[in-house]
Amino acid sequence: MTDIQALLAKVPTGLLIDGEWVAATSGETYTVENPATRETIAELQSAGSEDAMRALDAACAAQKSWAATPARERSEILRRAFELVQERKEEFATLMTLEMGKPLAEARGEVAYGGEFLRWFAEEAVRIGGRFGTSPETGFPMITRRKPVGPCLLITPWNFPLAMATRKVAPAVAAGCTMVLKSARLTPLTAQYFAQTMLDAGLPAGVLNVVSGTSASAISNPLMADPRLRKVSFTGSTPVGQKLLEAAAGQVLRTSMELGGNAPFIVFEDADIDKAVKGAMGAKMRNIGEACTAANRFLVHSSVAAEFAEKFAAAIGELKLGNGLDDGVTCGPLVEEAAVENVSALVDDAVSRGARVLVGGRRGPDTGHFYEPTVLVDVPREARVFKEEIFGPVAPIFTFETEEEALELANDTEFGLASYVFTEEPARMYRVSDGLEFGLMGFNSGVISNAAAPFGGVKHSGMGREGGFEGIEEYTSLQYIGVEQP
Ligand code: NAD
Repeated sequence: MTDIQALLAKVPTGLLIDGEWVAATSGETYTVENPATRETIAELQSAGSEDAMRALDAACAAQKSWAATPARERSEILRRAFELVQERKEEFATLMTLEMGKPLAEARGEVAYGGEFLRWFAEEAVRIGGRFGTSPETGFPMITRRKPVGPCLLITPWNFPLAMATRKVAPAVAAGCTMVLKSARLTPLTAQYFAQTMLDAGLPAGVLNVVSGTSASAISNPLMADPRLRKVSFTGSTPVGQKLLEAAAGQVLRTSMELGGNAPFIVFEDADIDKAVKGAMGAKMRNIGEACTAANRFLVHSSVAAEFAEKFAAAIGELKLGNGLDDGVTCGPLVEEAAVENVSALVDDAVSRGARVLVGGRRGPDTGHFYEPTVLVDVPREARVFKEEIFGPVAPIFTFETEEEALELANDTEFGLASYVFTEEPARMYRVSDGLEFGLMGFNSGVISNAAAPFGGVKHSGMGREGGFEGIEEYTSLQYIGVEQP
């Protein structure tokens, strides 16, 4: 059992600027709450615009020498960071459960997943290649090479406090970029401890700077207006992503946007229903439903809908709601009260339009921000849950009659991140993947995130890919050299 007070005492509370943990210029602070108990667990320095600019100054000063650092050295730093994260696994997991609420077993899962980005990009750092060709007209050599984009602003959300940071920091380090990281106000502790871990792994001063605080725009606005910043990588909601895209136009910044989702989970009549229920538990309940990849709409063929709903509701009914640090708890609190209110309003709306609650459907104990895991059936398409990201443990089930109708329902959203398809017919899997307008598709699988896979969406779910071979390209720019014939 981790000693929580000793752990919290290890987490830096300042801003990381040029390798030092420092106080905010204003001296302002903000507090972090445990959503399972509503207790304040930490007080951190709150960065303002001036601090953000100090962080950018440090990133810019370090950029040239960092870009010139051999790829092997950058790779070794990432590899050491991977090992340190494994050594500190229990500490990272406990911090995430404390500040975000997910059950400890899931937090350990995030350490494994998030840590993999460090290992994957340690391996990719030494494989940033170029191309050599010859001009078809003259036979002159043509060379392309990849160079670091330059100083980056990385903005992360609260739902995966470690993995969303490693998924950006690791490829930026691998590519030779320097960074200003702005973590989420609700869950900054994991990012603070991760940044310290990067320093412990040997990352030079100024390469990674961390500024978090109460006003996100006070930090991001001046940085994005500064011509020295060259890229913004953002994970969060679509409305904020849209604002950042507008701001990015000013300096024509490179952008990577990982935004909201509204994932369909399609169960065809030939699916193995037990497999589908197992997949549904992962796709819906991982992270208490607070995931951009979370199944938002269960689209089930009418001939198997009753069996699926009954088995799914039985599995959901067995979840134990509570403080994620307690033994046996399999569903934690939502991150804050506003999230409980939002989920509650979405369920009330569906019920007022005729949906039936099979299990759950109400708030949990008010000792924390709890909402009971819920399954809704007979949900009409007009219900808000069809269009809006639920971001909580609520599973609405809709029915369809034909494959064509399933695809039409699935694609009827402005989002295009994750989708899930359950069928025992591989030919149908390929056919349906053709028709689905989503960047990710799980075939008979409810959990598909992996550091080696290119993660990202289409439409309002964003642009760019994180992870995989593609993830590092987001942090490089291509230079072409046309060589004169001697
Ligand atoms: P959010 O958009 O409110 O916040 C995300 C981050 O942006 C936070 O660090 C926040 O402080 C910052 N931010 C907020 N306003 C800003 C502004 N005006 N300028 C600059 N930064 C600003 O989202 P959230 O509530 O933290 O996260 C949930 C959302 O993130 C969901 O929509 C979810 O789908 C999405 N998400 C997407 C992915 C993905 O990979 N596509 C992964 C996780 C979460």
